[in-house]
Amino acid sequence: MSITLNLQNIKATLPQSVTLVAVSKTKPVSDLMEAYNAGQRIFGENKIQEMVDKWEQMPKDIEWHMIGHVQTNKVKYMAPFVSLIHGVDSLKLLHEINKQAAKNNRIINCLLQIHIAEEETKFGLDETELNSLLSSSEFQEMKNIQIQGLMGMATFTDNQNQIKKEFLHLKSIFDQLQSLNTLNCKLSTISMGMSGDYPLAIECGSTMVRIGSSIFGGR
Ligand SMILES: *Cc1c(COP(=O)(O)O)cnc(C)c1O
Repeated sequence: MSITLNLQNIKATLPQSVTLVAVSKTKPVSDLMEAYNAGQRIFGENKIQEMVDKWEQMPKDIEWHMIGHVQTNKVKYMAPFVSLIHGVDSLKLLHEINKQAAKNNRIINCLLQIHIAEEETKFGLDETELNSLLSSSEFQEMKNIQIQGLMGMATFTDNQNQIKKEFLHLKSIFDQLQSLNTLNCKLSTISMGMSGDYPLAIECGSTMVRIGSSIFGGR
């Protein structure tokens, strides 16, 4: 199946309210261009250098999303152009994003990554860390970031009940924070769901799905 057909098929099943991030990590620019020519404008990458290389080579009306774990010392390379950073999981990282955004005269949109999986290896904040980050004065003074929502990854398992439980947990944290409305924080996005679990994620309230292999093939 072609990338174009894969994209069309997936888009046909997504509700209007759900944003599709085409996860193009490891794939060549020619594959991304096929998706671009089929109308896709949002691409997700998990390595900063690879995203910078692709940004340089591709049309400038693309929104680039960083979906991977971000090292503080590399934020500066994507700060001029990144549209949304999904995996923000510390005040220290947020501080660096704020600083680099200011240098570039921009406001950078971020999602806070929440640890919802059982596995210890997945990155993310727990609820206590999330609340202390949001209530810290250091955070509240950051003028060059905008927290638009939450991101989470379910455990890598076939157990649908467990995945569902984890997605619903993220949704409930999101719902609890709906009243939050400050200068740099208003939650409207829940980024959850990948090729294997996005229909379930949408059922559980996802507004943004990150789909790679079902569009571009295996990696
Ligand atoms: C690779 C990746 C995806 C996409 O995974 P697929 O199973 O290929 O759809 C989504 N989210 C994150 C954070 C990823 O690293």
